[in-house]
Amino acid sequence: ATPTAVMVATGVGANNGVLIKGGDALERAQKVKYVIFDKTGTLTQGKATVTTAKVFSGLDRGEFLRLVASAEASSEHPLAKAIVEYARHFHFFDEPSENEDYHGQSKETRVSGWLLDVSEFSALPGRGVHCFINKKRILVGNRKLLAESGIAIPIHVEDFVVELEESAKTGILVAYDDNIIGVLGVADPLKREAAVVIEGLGKMGVKSVMVTGDNWRTARAVAKEVGIQDVRAEVMPAGKADIVSSFQKSGSVVAMVGDGINDSPALAAADIGMAIGAGTDVAIEAADYVLMRNNLEDVITAIDLSRKTFSRIR
Ligand code: ADP
Ligand code: MG
Repeated sequence: ATPTAVMVATGVGANNGVLIKGGDALERAQKVKYVIFDKTGTLTQGKATVTTAKVFSGLDRGEFLRLVASAEASSEHPLAKAIVEYARHFHFFDEPSENEDYHGQSKETRVSGWLLDVSEFSALPGRGVHCFINKKRILVGNRKLLAESGIAIPIHVEDFVVELEESAKTGILVAYDDNIIGVLGVADPLKREAAVVIEGLGKMGVKSVMVTGDNWRTARAVAKEVGIQDVRAEVMPAGKADIVSSFQKSGSVVAMVGDGINDSPALAAADIGMAIGAGTDVAIEAADYVLMRNNLEDVITAIDLSRKTFSRIR
């Protein structure tokens, strides 16, 4: 391709919200063999919503949700935000007005006094959060988090989590004072265009792979919905780049599509890193392409643009 053709293609990309960082990146995309997609926020909308909250203890629902929200309030994770939002909604809108605890208190007092004091908070990447409330340890996260902390999951709780996961939801376990007190189910719907894009890539001879920190069962359920056969789940944040490298070993050209801070090392490791959506600055920095419209169709647009620009027919 002539420098002019490259310039034109870059301009066409930009007009469609596909920012290409240089001619080399544009040229590499035509040879893509594998596209590795992050799950959360890339294939899915990244709008996690709590769909279920089940209490497995004597606590009432309001108390349970207040504990969980207090523990998650300092976390930036999308799951944490969804949980706090759900608990806040329940507290301020669904609570019986005659609740004795709040009798005679003004609305303001209820708002400011809602979250409980938390100490020794820590966010554990790929696992959840950990802190103390009323001098008792509280853990909110996945099985790995509980296993590392030596907390056993009773069979009836495990069964409930499995049920959530089989319907493509993420089950979040809550342990307080070293006992499981409840489970939350969080759903994050697929982007509308996701399945069509995966199918389209297949027709172009490009294989799609999904990678996620989420558990295997949820990952498989989501992959099935979107039409991806090759799934890698329970990947720690640092592990996504290793997965990219493993696909490159065969000599294949690999693209990685992701949106989060977690994804930056993998975006950098890939032959073509594509940051999607508003993304994080770190992801945008690490990427060769920025897909501004947050639409997965632009993965196809990017590959097409490269193929058309560098095809042998000039
Ligand atoms: P992803 O690759 O899907 O973006 P992460 O590595 O951020 O996933 O998280 C992986 C898993 O760790 C989540 O599915 C969840 O089970 C757990 N997790 C991480 N952060 C939190 C949190 N703040 N609260 C509850 N669970 C969490
Ligand atoms: Mg993500």
